[in-house]
Amino acid sequence: MKKSNNLLGGILLGFLMGVGVISLMAYSSMDDVNITETKAAKERDSYFPNTEPLAPDEMRVVALGTGMPTARPKQAAACFLVELGNGDKFIFDAGTGSAERLSAMQIPYNHLDKIFLGHLHTDHFGDLDAMFVGGALMGRQKPLRVWGPSGDTPERGTKYALDHLFKALTWDLDGRAGITDPRGYFLEANEFDYRGVNKIIYEENGVVIRSFPAIHALDGPVSFSLEWNGLKFVYGSDTFPNKWFDEYAKNADLAIHECFIPVPAMVEKFKFTPQAALPVATQVHTAPEAFGKVMSMIKPRMAVAYHFFNDYDTQPDVYDRIRSTYDGPLSLAIDYMVWNITKDKITTRMAIVDEDIWPPTATEKAQIPDPNIRIPYSKFISDGKLDMKDIIQPIYDEINEMYGLDEKQEDN
Ligand SMILES: [Zn+2]
Ligand SMILES: [Zn+2]
Repeated sequence: MKKSNNLLGGILLGFLMGVGVISLMAYSSMDDVNITETKAAKERDSYFPNTEPLAPDEMRVVALGTGMPTARPKQAAACFLVELGNGDKFIFDAGTGSAERLSAMQIPYNHLDKIFLGHLHTDHFGDLDAMFVGGALMGRQKPLRVWGPSGDTPERGTKYALDHLFKALTWDLDGRAGITDPRGYFLEANEFDYRGVNKIIYEENGVVIRSFPAIHALDGPVSFSLEWNGLKFVYGSDTFPNKWFDEYAKNADLAIHECFIPVPAMVEKFKFTPQAALPVATQVHTAPEAFGKVMSMIKPRMAVAYHFFNDYDTQPDVYDRIRSTYDGPLSLAIDYMVWNITKDKITTRMAIVDEDIWPPTATEKAQIPDPNIRIPYSKFISDGKLDMKDIIQPIYDEINEMYGLDEKQEDN
């Protein structure tokens, strides 16, 4: 992208200087076009996680889930990561399948402790348990902080959902007592009023996050804006087009809004009846034509459409329908799409992920677990253990020697 800008700049400069055919010379003399026999280009056409520092004034947004409730290999359900040049990182929605994509970004889990949920459909928070437990296991040595809306009854609110998720994990968490660093196994529920209109729900370190109501399925869903350093990111979660998005997403640098599968594709590929597809795709959700109209009203620097299966055969129809109502900058999101945003420029690329990576190293040393708080097996179960002491003792000897320890096998 920058190359072509420079090329254009070079041509323009050339004409201004009264030089005729200069484009090739201008092209090769630009600083950032620096490929030689031994030197690689500074600017990359793809994003390789954990290889690019963020500039102090830069925001990077990564799509970690752009699909539907039924996660598929190509698209997890809703999740977007926002990284800021001040070091802060925020996760918006945590849909099913997105925890795996998050790991591909190679970010230490201690930096991933803030999640904002737009609503409580599983395609927007179905991987919260994986991020909660997996993150703690891999070095988030502090509670996971979660923000989400209230509901029209307490049972439909975020706090209820998190309290009960925590209870559902009783066996998991009890089974880790005394075995792993305990500090990450806490959920901090920050429930806010879903009726708040552009209310601040988070303000730390120069970052302001506001919520405003969304219209989707039941009372409760919200959309978010994040403002930092003169940049504005907006995330709709799920919603029918609404007046609050029109007002509070205006002039966003990056505006993400759902854009649902067109009705014919719902009928042909999902085998919905037309009678069922119409209300789901146009009333509970936002049809592509309606997405386009919303973006024409708010005029973001970049509009991002998500929440449809984005394939070679479905994309053209989605695109044409959006273009019937919107002609501005547009990304049809797919998992691992990346936007780098500064005041001057928005770059859209794809991340190239490494399937072989391990979770990144923790930023702090783990606490040594206290074996005294382990919950023991019953005699019935421990009596079922085969005697492996002579097989396992050499492993203890090996590790004790390797690390200068004096660890002893457990009795049962
Ligand atoms: Zn939903
Ligand atoms: Zn959804």
